[in-house]
Parts: sequence; structure tokens; C-alpha cells
Amino acid sequence: MDSGSLRKILDLEQKRGYQDSAVFGGLDRFLQNWSAQAMESVVRPRLLKRFRQLFKSDYASMTPEQRRDWIDSVFGFLDDVESKNSDVVTQEESPAPPSRRKSPLKKQKPPAAVSGEGLNSPVTVIKGISTSLAGKFGKMGVKTVRDLLYFFPHRHLDYSQLKFISQLAEGEEQTVVANVWQAQETRLGGRRSTEAIVGDETGNIRVVWYNQPYLAKKLATNARIMLSGRVSLFRGRHVFQSPEWEPVESQDFVHTARLVPVYSLTQGLRPRQVRKLMKDFIDHWAWQVTDFLPPELRKRLDLLELPQAISQAHYPEDETTKDKARIRLAFDELFILQLGVMSKKRDWQESRPGTPFDVDVPLRETFIKSLPFSLTASQDRVLEEILADMGKSRPMCRLLQGEVGSGKTVVATAALLTAAASGHQGAFMAPTEILAEQHFATVCELLSRVGSEEGEGYLRSYSGLLSRPLKVALLIGDIKQSGKRELQQSISAGDIDIVIGTHALVQKGVDFSKLGLVVVDEQHRFGVEQRSALREKGFNPHMLVMTATPIPRTLALTLYGDLDLSVIDELPPGRQTVKTKWLKPQQRESAYAFIRRQVAEGRQAFIICPLIEESEAIAAQAAVVEYERLSREVFPDLRLGLLHGRLSAGDKDDVMESFRSGELNILVSTPVIEVGIDIPNAAVMLVESADRFGLSQLHQFRGRVGRGQEQSYCMLLAENPSEVGRERLDIIENTQDGFKLAEEDLRLRGPGEFFGTRQSGLPDLRMAKLSDVALLETARTEAMNLFQKDPGLKKREHRLMAQELARVWPSAGEWS
Ligand code: ADP
Ligand code: MG
Repeated sequence: MDSGSLRKILDLEQKRGYQDSAVFGGLDRFLQNWSAQAMESVVRPRLLKRFRQLFKSDYASMTPEQRRDWIDSVFGFLDDVESKNSDVVTQEESPAPPSRRKSPLKKQKPPAAVSGEGLNSPVTVIKGISTSLAGKFGKMGVKTVRDLLYFFPHRHLDYSQLKFISQLAEGEEQTVVANVWQAQETRLGGRRSTEAIVGDETGNIRVVWYNQPYLAKKLATNARIMLSGRVSLFRGRHVFQSPEWEPVESQDFVHTARLVPVYSLTQGLRPRQVRKLMKDFIDHWAWQVTDFLPPELRKRLDLLELPQAISQAHYPEDETTKDKARIRLAFDELFILQLGVMSKKRDWQESRPGTPFDVDVPLRETFIKSLPFSLTASQDRVLEEILADMGKSRPMCRLLQGEVGSGKTVVATAALLTAAASGHQGAFMAPTEILAEQHFATVCELLSRVGSEEGEGYLRSYSGLLSRPLKVALLIGDIKQSGKRELQQSISAGDIDIVIGTHALVQKGVDFSKLGLVVVDEQHRFGVEQRSALREKGFNPHMLVMTATPIPRTLALTLYGDLDLSVIDELPPGRQTVKTKWLKPQQRESAYAFIRRQVAEGRQAFIICPLIEESEAIAAQAAVVEYERLSREVFPDLRLGLLHGRLSAGDKDDVMESFRSGELNILVSTPVIEVGIDIPNAAVMLVESADRFGLSQLHQFRGRVGRGQEQSYCMLLAENPSEVGRERLDIIENTQDGFKLAEEDLRLRGPGEFFGTRQSGLPDLRMAKLSDVALLETARTEAMNLFQKDPGLKKREHRLMAQELARVWPSAGEWS
């Protein structure tokens, strides 16, 4: 509290002989204002009581003797407040906090019926929450007491700036303490509303509340209220527009004069109602949360206690405490997440030993020598890392990251051959059937350079590589039933060495006889849960997941904390940069003309149709329409092909084959082409509605061209891009670096959309941000240390943590 100004005024008043002349307009106005501000910093109950009694007084009506006595007692009071050893502080009272405002949490016993398991009780056990109100919260995913405790506001309004009326500035969030001079119902814009004039010692101001006529009666003349909100200028004068307000006598401010939370609402919930309810609820319930972090850890990292963090996240004392609360809660999320991913890794690696491969096989050398190029240094290095893993009995869990075109497939093929040479089966899985087919074609092409090929279609065998023929099969949905059954039989008999397919290979339960290596392409579509599915079938294969999407470190550690990381950080020599241009709608014709010229020079082009979210069927339909339009109206003289997800495998094959062989000039496609397609002669990529794709996705499209010798081009069409859309197009035009693009993507879209975290089976991050790198590293280190000391979290002091882990991530492992 600012006792200095009060002392000065009272000094002056004494010197002038108690004439009530120290301040213009009389001492009472000043005192009221001063006390309203000072009151909140008085947190000790006894002091507060004295404070209230003192400042209730009406100075103007006192006799000079009474005034002298009163001023003396005010000085006495100020002395007490300021003295550290004040005898008015009782033993159990803690020293005053640094902040002006403090809303002490009330420790109150939970209702008997809900103690113990109280936090899991439905919200209806909370005072003031009816069944119908509970229904409204339910719509927002808030069902239990715990949900409500963790129902954090998405932001806070800073109403903590106390101002005099004369100091109010337009546009800022600010608070005044004022007297209501008059309040009346009025009509504003034809609506019944309330208008009031309020004032403090520095001036008066008009206040209007649209559509709230009932307020007129609530605001009694001479009532003292807090007003928080923004001020605007109307006919040259300041007006408060629908500010929040509450009486100054309120002990804890809920809507004004503090950092005021802004909660998500749903139909039928009003901000004031939710705030009030949350305030009461938090005050009464936050203390029932038991802190699961061991005190030693919490103190060492200087984290707030959990109950305090929860309550401060809702109704913070000040910005600093609000930040501390967020950090504590973010730490919890990251820490539990790290414990979860580590337990997965441990389950994967240690519950059952995997199979050490004989990695020293001549076949791999022969294979690498047969390639028409030599491996880049990066490819060499990651292959070594992979082989080192496969030579151990702990199954490999490795993420292979490498730009589009950096040559991951060759590395994967070398690994698959190594598995086959040591007598194991390998599965190679792609996110789509088209890609599976392409991988099959690539692998077969590579193998036919070293061995002599027999068979055709989806089953090939190569002799001269091993003591027996090496067999490679493609298993996808479109293969005829009879053929499929036969294939599956051969796979379960162990007759087939390498099986290529989609993720369904693992999910739908194909039986392998000796599965030793699983390669997953484009990992971000392959969730944590699917990985566990494999193990449940009794396999503990080595696992290599590959992605062309560079993953920022925070996200890599968060989502894939259970994987070791290998990075191919160079492209094969001689790769060109793809010239990228964002075209305005009126440049469409020149884009078509450009494609025509390129085709005349012998190149081929892709045209990607817009992204349509609803369904693959609708996307396919749209592609058909566009294909017909282009064939008829734009390129009637050229040969166009159409590719979409609804085509049968045979038709897709035919289209891809005709494009690959150069028979088609232009391939019109839905965005399924996104990953992996490899056609060196394709030099032009035209993307429709490019503003609707994420940066990483656009980069993937762009990676489909520039794979041969010719200069390649990527043209991006956007009809009416949004602000963010424009920003994205600007970035992709000027950046070739996939890693940078991924970070930008993350910044612009957030992690959920970036990777579909929801699908990945990982818990939500509400408080943690991807910029919390240091906090994440801390959480990871702590989780690792803990894991080393007490892998099963069996120790007594870790019991609560084990429970929390099991609650947040039930599938994380054998936690008790
Ligand atoms: P990714 O899967 O990483 O996008 P691919 O494995 O499909 O990349 O490789 C892209 C192209 O580069 C393929 O045509 C492949 O044959 C070729 N390639 C791979 N490694 C090399 C290399 N070291 N030198 C030259 N070309 C390579
Ligand atoms: Mg690839």
C-alpha cells in the first residue's frame, strides 16, 4: 500500500489544524479512494478488520478533537502495517506476500461424500453446479471435478492497472474506483441499456452498458464500485463501454481490479457466471489436489506446489505468479509425457529380447556396389547407425529423418536385405497404397540389378543373392482375394522375405513367421499405438521409422521421445533447387502456357487438385471434374492422366506406369501424390488452392519435381488467400530448407494440425508450448534420472507419480 501519500496528507492536515483542508474537495473523497486501493494489500485478517473500522469513518462530520484522535490512530495503524515484528500478526499467519492482491485459498474440507476419490466425482458435487449447468460444461469436455480444476482460462484480461479517472487513456485495459453519482435506464441504438455517471476526486466519466437495463437498479447512488475495461472517445469525451464492475466491498475481486480470467464458453454460459463459479470452486477445491511431484524435485526445480499452481493459473495474483503457475503445469505435462514415452521404449526394448542380426553380410556390400551411384556420406553414416542397432539384442527404435529425395529408400532396402540375409522377414510399410506400390517397384528395380528376377505382379523372386531365392511381395487391399490368401499363407510359412504394404500390414493382423525388421515410411501418420500392436502379436522386431518431414527438436522429443534419431542431412550431389512461384489468379493462363512449353521440350507435369477435407470420395470427384475440364478446354492436344485414391490398384498402376514411361504428359492428381512419388522427368508442379496446404505439405509436393537433370518449377495458385495463407506462400516461395519450413509450419498452424497429435495417441498439451525447449530438456533429464533410479516407479515417494502417469497415459505400461 502507498502509505507515503496518506502520511503526507495527514501531516498537512495536522499542520493546518484539522480544518479538512489538506486536499481539495475534502479528505473523505481522498480517503475513500486511497483505502479502496490499499485494502487489497492488507491480507492479515486482524489488520483488515482494523483497517475497515478506521476507514469507514466520516472525517468531515468529526469535531477537531475527534479528527486529531482519528489521525493518530491512522498513524498507529500504518506503523503496525509497516513494522515487521508487528504484534498484530498472529503466530499462524504467514508474512504478507509481495503482491498487492492476494486471494488466500480457503482450506475447506470436501463434502464427506466425495473425499478421497473426490476429484473424479462428477461436477455436480460442486456447490452451485446443477445438472443442467453440468451438461453445459460437459459439452466442453468438463465432466469431473478434476476436469474443472484443469479447465484453464485461455487468457487473462489485465485489469490490475488502477487509475484515476483523469488518467484514463483510450484503448487500454484499466480499472478505476469510483462513486456512482447516478445510474438510469436508457435507450442506446434502440436497445434498453444502462447509463451511469461515476466519479472520483479527479473527475467524472460516463459509463454505458448496452442491453443491460437491469443494471440501473443495481447501481445505487453513492455506491462505490470498481470498473474495469476499455475507454473510448465519444464526442470528444471518454466513455467506459460495458465495463466489468463489482462493489468495492468485495473481499476478493472476481471481475475487476486484477488479472481476470477469460474462459471458454458454450451456449447458455455467461462470462460473469463462469468466473464467479470458478472463483468459488477454485478457492474451495484446489487444496484437495495432492501434489504428485516428490518435494525434493519440486524444490530443486523451484516449481510451485500443484494446488497453488492450479489456483494461480485461474486467478493469478500477478503476471509473475501466473507465469510460474504455467511453468509448473507445463512441466507436469512434459514430465509425464517423457515418462510415458520412456516407458514405451523400455517396454519395447527390454520386456523381451529382440533378435540380434548377423549384420556382417556380404549381400549388403554387393547390393551397395550394384547401385548406379555411391551413397552420400550421410547415407553411409545412418546405415552404420542402423546396422549397429540391428546387431544388438535390444530391438532398434530409430527415427530416420531426411529431406525429400535424400535417399532413404535405398538405406531402408539395405536394412531389409540384411534382415533377409540373417534369416528374418522384413515388413516395409507406406501410408498409402500408391506409395506401397511405388516402394515395391523401387525395391524390385534395385534388386534386379544384383539378382536375376523371376515372377511378375505382386510377387517376385531373386536368385543369386542368398543360398535360396529371395522373395519380395506386395500386399495391398486391391489384390484379388484368392491371390491374397495365398500370399498370406506364404508369409506365415516364412516363405517371403520382404513384404511391402500399407500400415494395415500390422494393424489388420497379417501373420509373419519370423518378423525381424519393420520399416515404416512417413512415420507421422503412424501412431504410437500401432507400434504397440506389433508387440502384442508376439513380435519384438527392430523398427525403423522414416520421415521426410523435418521435425523441430521440441516436437521430436515430445512426440518421438522413445526413438533414437538418425538424420540424412544432405542431398545426393547435383540436385537443383526447384524454382517456386506464387501466382495470382489472373496468371492461371500463363501457368498453362508454361506447362505447354515444358511439355514441348519433353518434360512432364503434375497438377494437384485442391485439398478437400470431407472425404476421399469427394476429393476424387473434384479431381475427375478438373481432369475433364483440363482435357477438354485447356490441353485437348496433350495426353493427360488422372490419379486419385478411389481408383483400383490396377488402374493406379496403369496410370503411374504410363506417366513414368512418358506416355502421359500431365498427371492430374488429388493430394495423395504428396509423398514419395519419384519420376525424374517430371519438371513442373502446379498446385491449385495452394494456400490451403501446410508448408510441409507444399514442400512435399515440390519434392516431386527436381529429381532429374532438368531445371524444375513449382507454381502455386491461390484464389483468395487468407492472411496466414499469404504468409505461407511467401515463405515457401523463398525457402528451400525443409527444416525451416517445418518450424514455420509449426509456428503458423500449431502442433495439432502439424502432425495430427490427436491421432498419435499422445496426451494433450494444454500449458506446454513448443517454445518451452529448456523446460522440455529439464523434464526429459528428470524423467531419465528417475527412470534410472526407479524404473517401475515402485518406491514409496514415487507412488503418486505412478498413479498420475497411469491416469494420464493408461497404456504407458505396467504402472501400479
Ligand atoms: P527419399 O525417400 O528420401 O525421398 P529416395 O530414396 O526416393 O528419397 O531417393 C530419391 C532419388 O534419389 C531416387 O531416384 C534414388 O535412386 C536417388 N538416390 C538415392 N541415393 C542417391 C545417391 N547417393 N546418389 C544419387 N542418387 C541417389
Ligand atoms: Mg521416400
